[in-house]
Amino acid sequence: MQPVVQFENVTKAYGQAVAVDRLDLSIEPGKFVTLLGPSGCGKSTTLRMLGGFETPNSGRILLAGKDVTRLPPNKRNVNIVFQDYALFPHMNVARNIAFGLELQGHGSDAIHRRVMELLDLVKLQAYANRLPSELSGGQRQRVALMRALAPDPQVLLLDEPLSALDAKLRQQMQIELKSIQEKTGKTFLFVTHDQEEALTMSDQIVVMNNGRIEQMGDPHTLYSRPESVFVANFIGEANLLRATVIGTDGDKTALNWNGAQVEASATVHSTRAGDTVCLVLRPEAIQFSADAGKVANAMRGKIRQRVFKGNHTSMMVEVADGSRLNALVHPVDTEALSGEDVWIGWQSRNATVIRDEAAAK
Ligand code: ADP
Repeated sequence: MQPVVQFENVTKAYGQAVAVDRLDLSIEPGKFVTLLGPSGCGKSTTLRMLGGFETPNSGRILLAGKDVTRLPPNKRNVNIVFQDYALFPHMNVARNIAFGLELQGHGSDAIHRRVMELLDLVKLQAYANRLPSELSGGQRQRVALMRALAPDPQVLLLDEPLSALDAKLRQQMQIELKSIQEKTGKTFLFVTHDQEEALTMSDQIVVMNNGRIEQMGDPHTLYSRPESVFVANFIGEANLLRATVIGTDGDKTALNWNGAQVEASATVHSTRAGDTVCLVLRPEAIQFSADAGKVANAMRGKIRQRVFKGNHTSMMVEVADGSRLNALVHPVDTEALSGEDVWIGWQSRNATVIRDEAAAK
């Protein structure tokens, strides 16, 4: 399938500061794709280059196979939604949405049909004649989205559009945005620094760091098989234990951790016996038991802290090498764990191994 967006070896620098560094990225049509990473990693610059608001220093940007690298924004079929909505305050909802269609020179009947179809999509038909100031934050957001979708762009660019909303509305809008993307079948390229937002909405997440792609994949793969310490820590919470590879057998890696043999699923990196690696354990992957025989990969632990959080209890467990692990335990299971001394373990498939970047340097 022809990708709808391709960045080919794209670099953008501001003076000495490299914002985007030799970026290669290919996006399939009809997907919800998120650029995720800490502030300053180059997400907005990437988005703005695709929108035509910035020009790369080198490399090419293709839209549906066509080189648009040096075309101005109005000559490429993409549209952008900003955080501050930027609705025209003196125009009602219908006219705001119609604006781009009028610029394209469509007839008034066609424009009316399209506006009504879009208002129907977000259940705002009854608000067609209101001014933006007469709408709630969530409604304004929906109108801004429909205005950007009206001219049927090949890609819709969304630059942290939800960050001004309060937490509850934000969660609703995440579900709604994803649903609008599915209903319209449009390609959405969304920028956020919020990993939970990215996990909730995306078909593909592109994790960026220092202007480069750290890892790209579907949310499940990124969470369960991070390929770097950066990704393991940026998406979800990770416990990292340093261990030495004993050997790999099919999809399992045997490891020596503090003199004990333990197992994790195989890594995407090739490892050899004797390599130092990081074993990645998600808090919910850690299992507790009163005796060693009941859990795989058993190791002794001491519960140093327990915090009741309602639907789970957060435990801090110290293991033999002094590492402190964060674990999540269902409240029902917590009742059996009254003392300090426990055994912990994990299913090998729920743990993964990544290269120990500190040791490799
Ligand atoms: P993000 O969206 O991930 O927060 P940006 O793409 O906005 O990151 O910025 C990437 C880097 O480029 C940052 O170090 C930022 O300070 C720098 N930068 C972005 N825009 C400009 C600009 N117009 N002038 C100078 N530096 C910029």
